[in-house]
Amino acid sequence: MANKLKPKKGKLTVIAGPMFAGKTTKLLTLFSVLSDLDFSVLCFKAEALSNGGMGHTRSHDERPLPVIYIDMNKPEKILHYVGSGGIQKVIIDAVHFFPKTSFMGVVDTLLAQGIDVYVNGLIFDYRKKEYGATRVLMKKADECIEQYSICVKCGGRAAHTERVSGSTEVSIGTTGRKKAEYVAVCSTCHKVYQG
Ligand SMILES: [Zn+2]
Repeated sequence: MANKLKPKKGKLTVIAGPMFAGKTTKLLTLFSVLSDLDFSVLCFKAEALSNGGMGHTRSHDERPLPVIYIDMNKPEKILHYVGSGGIQKVIIDAVHFFPKTSFMGVVDTLLAQGIDVYVNGLIFDYRKKEYGATRVLMKKADECIEQYSICVKCGGRAAHTERVSGSTEVSIGTTGRKKAEYVAVCSTCHKVYQG
């Protein structure tokens, strides 16, 4: 009975890859299965404050995930929503937007409370640089699912996202800027967008 004092640590599942790899679709599937099994689940999504980043509010096949939007600069708000209300599973979409250190603190807190955490994120940004905490989360994960897409240029395995339009300046709250668009590409075909 001694080990009843502390809750069993939660498990971390990480789904990672480029855009158009089915990462949000995988979270939707997990949400639907977990809900059917009557687990108490909460879903969150990092809310990008500008379209200088990359992200979608729903999976590409248009099925919405019932998410609570969290300001990308305040990931600790997730802990307020989870509270002590008996939540068993937490799903978080687009975690690459959160600052690495503070988001890792949130994940550690949830796991320590015995909550299973499922996240998805882009491994690289459109400059091919590591994006947010995704890589660190992959190393920490109990289960890591790396998904890939198909390169729009050569048809090979795509692990990267290339930006193909939009303004390069990251200014918050500006309207009328050309929307950024992205495609999935392989490492060889990838080019850094210059605007
Ligand atoms: Zn290619």
